[in-house]
Amino acid sequence: MLRKQRRQQRMKKKMFALGLVSLSAVLTLGACGSRGGDSAEGSGDGGSQEAGSQLIGGAIYKFDDTFMTGVRTAMTEAANTSGVKLELVDSQNKQPTQNEQVDTFITKGVNALAINPVDRTAAGPIIEKAKAAELPIVFINREPETADMESYDKVWYVGAKAEQSGIQSGQIISDYFEANPDADKNGDGVIQYVMLQGEPGHQDATLRSEYSIQAIEEAGFKTEKLAADTAMWDKAKATDLMKSFITGQGIDKIEAVIANNDDMALGAIEALKAEGYNTGDAAKFMPVVGVDATAPALEAMKDGSLLGTVLNDAVNQGTATINVAKAVMDGKEINEENVGYPVTDGKYIWIDYVKVTKDNYAEFME
Ligand code: BGC
Repeated sequence: MLRKQRRQQRMKKKMFALGLVSLSAVLTLGACGSRGGDSAEGSGDGGSQEAGSQLIGGAIYKFDDTFMTGVRTAMTEAANTSGVKLELVDSQNKQPTQNEQVDTFITKGVNALAINPVDRTAAGPIIEKAKAAELPIVFINREPETADMESYDKVWYVGAKAEQSGIQSGQIISDYFEANPDADKNGDGVIQYVMLQGEPGHQDATLRSEYSIQAIEEAGFKTEKLAADTAMWDKAKATDLMKSFITGQGIDKIEAVIANNDDMALGAIEALKAEGYNTGDAAKFMPVVGVDATAPALEAMKDGSLLGTVLNDAVNQGTATINVAKAVMDGKEINEENVGYPVTDGKYIWIDYVKVTKDNYAEFME
């Protein structure tokens, strides 16, 4: 059922994008002869570009990020479906590099920018550049500060509500403890947990950390943080961190592992496996939860080493980013009718998270 729904949803988005194509083809015919098809033209005159010559300049904080790789793929597919050109560059986790890439895009004459900032608090200068060139700009995944979002009328943000993912991952843990009272290994009525956090300052790291624990407590459990630290969204760093947690705390004391994303959850599982945990012996199972629902995480759910995750919908985030850029380039207003997704306060496109448990994980496997 769910798989069917998701397939239908994807079809809908595809058809929507195709609809945009045919509509802009009509617009192009209508405008025939009225303007040249030079992709080097800016969009500053408020007019629309011909579909075939529309170029989006996209910068991703770093290509070597599992979740953002999914978003990139979705952006590329959506651009192909919509008939727009998309140039994606790797900002290699360096904000100065990304700023230069934006300058290059502007010099080159892109018609819109799609930016996944390295440092979300450094969006201001990028917005200034876009504003000076009168270019629309869509931020993805790393949310600029409100003041920056309000500093220009052609800036949008596509992302997901971090609180929601925190709540859902916390519920996966509390549901597990409700169904398995023995998971409270020392029987003290308190869930002793360790947490692997994302990059400091990233809204998803801060809010997932906070709301996951809040959700566990709202479900009626007491919690005790044994240890928490950043593993920067990274699997290998998470393995090292989890090893140090195990050494520092003793594995018997740890009752749950909460990770801000799947790569770190999988890294922690590597460290647990080295101790004979989560390899199939029911007496040695540590509940681990992540966020993203990446392909390797779904595989880990299938083999039983990962308790649960939360779908961070890369397909719809990538598609929405391109749809917004495309609609602006076509001179349209940004609303649900024109982009295929609800728009909040005229600037924000929020894509829902979905809880992924043993009951539904198979629906998300491609
Ligand atoms: C994802 C992480 C990813 C990060 C990149 C988060 O939303 O859950 O996996 O590393 O975004 O900014």
